[in-house]
Amino acid sequence: MHTGVVKGLLAVGVLAALVLVGAPTASAADSTGAAPSIFAGHDEDLVGAGWAACPSPITWSVDVSSLDSTTAQVQIQHLAWAFDQWSRASGLEFAFAGRTRMSFDERSFTLRARSGERAPERHIAISYLPQREYRTLNDTIVGMASPSLVWRDRREITSATAVFSRDYAVDASSRESRALLLHELGHALGLGHSEDAGHVMHEIVQTRTSLTAADIAGVQSLVTSCSAGTATTTTLS
Ligand SMILES: [Zn+2]
Repeated sequence: MHTGVVKGLLAVGVLAALVLVGAPTASAADSTGAAPSIFAGHDEDLVGAGWAACPSPITWSVDVSSLDSTTAQVQIQHLAWAFDQWSRASGLEFAFAGRTRMSFDERSFTLRARSGERAPERHIAISYLPQREYRTLNDTIVGMASPSLVWRDRREITSATAVFSRDYAVDASSRESRALLLHELGHALGLGHSEDAGHVMHEIVQTRTSLTAADIAGVQSLVTSCSAGTATTTTLS
């Protein structure tokens, strides 16, 4: 689902990258295949798109204004932990850019800073949303994430969006929260769902907090070499 193209920069819109938290499912046949691209079945031209491994880190910011201060602090720690897991797996570097108030547009699946400030390139925007205010989230879909902008010519993701249920964050155990964040950040990095119930990228998130070889192979296959300097500044409004 595409919402616009500007100078080869593609706004992706929401992909089928939701997560269900629910009853255990029967384990699928053991699979050692790498987790697939999130674009498989959506846009074959973008299959394999991933983030570039540049010296400058990918930044992330979060809106935790719907959470109490303790929960907010804990969730930021869990996010930092989840980014660290993916960093070790992929070689990508991530840096926390701070707390930001954001507005969520459900139709385009994008988060925008309320200050009006434009998001930097190579950035992941994250927000915790009260379930009752958004149709995107409910009692079983407690997180959703997707790349937001992709350089089509070089299949490089340059922006991603992740939203989480504020209600779930308050109630979940540390392990449940970590499992959810780890899974959703996998989507932000370009991974789709794995059929193997043992993988972090399986669509039903339970309490898996260790990336498997297949999750790691999946993300490694998506990382592209850095072409910083060739990117032109673009706006997408
Ligand atoms: Zn998912």
